[in-house]
Amino acid sequence: MVNEVCLRTLDLDRPWLLEQYQSRGGYEMLTRILKEKTPPEEIIEEVKKSGLRGRGGAGFPTGLKWSFISRNAPGQKYVVCNSDEGEPGTFKDRDILRYNPHQLIEGMIIAAYAIGATQGYNYIRGEFWEPYERFEAALKEAREAGFLGENLLGSGFDFELHSHLGGGAYVCGEETALLESIEGKKGQPRFKPPFPAHFGLYGRPTIINNTESLASIPMILKEGGPWFADIGVTNSGGSKLFSISGNLNNPGVFEIPMGTPFSELLEMAGGVKGGRKLKAVIPGGSSAPIIPGEQMMDLTMDYDAIAEAGSMLGSGAVIVFDDTNCMVKVLERMSYFYYEESCGQCTPCREGTGWLYRVVSRIENGQGRQEDLDLLDDVAARIAGRTICALGDAAAGPVAGMLKHFRDEFQYHIDHKKCLVGAG
Ligand code: SF4
Repeated sequence: MVNEVCLRTLDLDRPWLLEQYQSRGGYEMLTRILKEKTPPEEIIEEVKKSGLRGRGGAGFPTGLKWSFISRNAPGQKYVVCNSDEGEPGTFKDRDILRYNPHQLIEGMIIAAYAIGATQGYNYIRGEFWEPYERFEAALKEAREAGFLGENLLGSGFDFELHSHLGGGAYVCGEETALLESIEGKKGQPRFKPPFPAHFGLYGRPTIINNTESLASIPMILKEGGPWFADIGVTNSGGSKLFSISGNLNNPGVFEIPMGTPFSELLEMAGGVKGGRKLKAVIPGGSSAPIIPGEQMMDLTMDYDAIAEAGSMLGSGAVIVFDDTNCMVKVLERMSYFYYEESCGQCTPCREGTGWLYRVVSRIENGQGRQEDLDLLDDVAARIAGRTICALGDAAAGPVAGMLKHFRDEFQYHIDHKKCLVGAG
């Protein structure tokens, strides 16, 4: 079972158009909800039954998140979609914006109805020009068809949706930095609590969900929460988009049931390029600890299996390395990314990411010292759990995994001033 939820219209000609989306039943669920005035509690209950967990990386149950907002509380509430997809290796939401924008719009309208919001924003990554334009065109079509604006389909429910193009900072994918950015401020994460459900956009109750999470909603409600849950496995309901990249014959985005063996996903991606040996896999974006290839071949793609192996499913960004890749070089590139993207608010992250990058870099460049291996561990431990947002943890997390599984490569660089695999 593939392409059943978010990519179900992919086989159509120009699937991003309203008429094509409607040819597959698009907006029927929203129409039914508005006409029948479905109680919002019923919608939230169905989403809870689906087992849908946030597809942006945190994996928090979506239905539970929605239930934190009191629909009847007076005043403005907001629905915000996080399309600021910037984690290295992650490019799944881009395909939803490009190929199925109307399903995301329908999901956002339903979410707004469920929590009583009348305004929504989709925060789109600054580099996503083509997806942004696709989404804008879809908004125009939806507005003209009466799915956005005042008194939707004569129901008395108002909802307007805007897109917001980011400025290119990775940290704005953190939900409170994203809210600051929409408000026109510097995109820096807020202290939590208070959480956005109580103090969100412009200080009002707000739900923020990932693109894939919101785009899954129409099908969950159409087919029922248990249907979605049954696609996946216990504790990991539904299907999931995986963006798989690296040394592969056919990298791309694949929608597969949660719990699918990694070996099957690798096969869909055409296998390792040139038939080379699978060396290692990062299973959930650059912040997820690396797993050796042999171990990965025995795992399934779901939250529990990947966590038991010492890593995270994260956003579903799978990065594949073969035996020509130098793990010291890989860690150097990753640590440079976090060093560049730290917003600088908290000292452990601002200073620690710089230390990590400089130490790995000197090992890579043949100037490493024996004590650098312990130093890397020490700096990572001083960042983890001591920062305002998860970027600090994301920078620290990969270090331990790299040293645990590929210590010999780091040691070889220090001892011989060159790379063990010869391709780094
Ligand atoms: Fe900024 Fe890093 Fe602190 Fe996050 S952890 S708030 S990115 S300094």
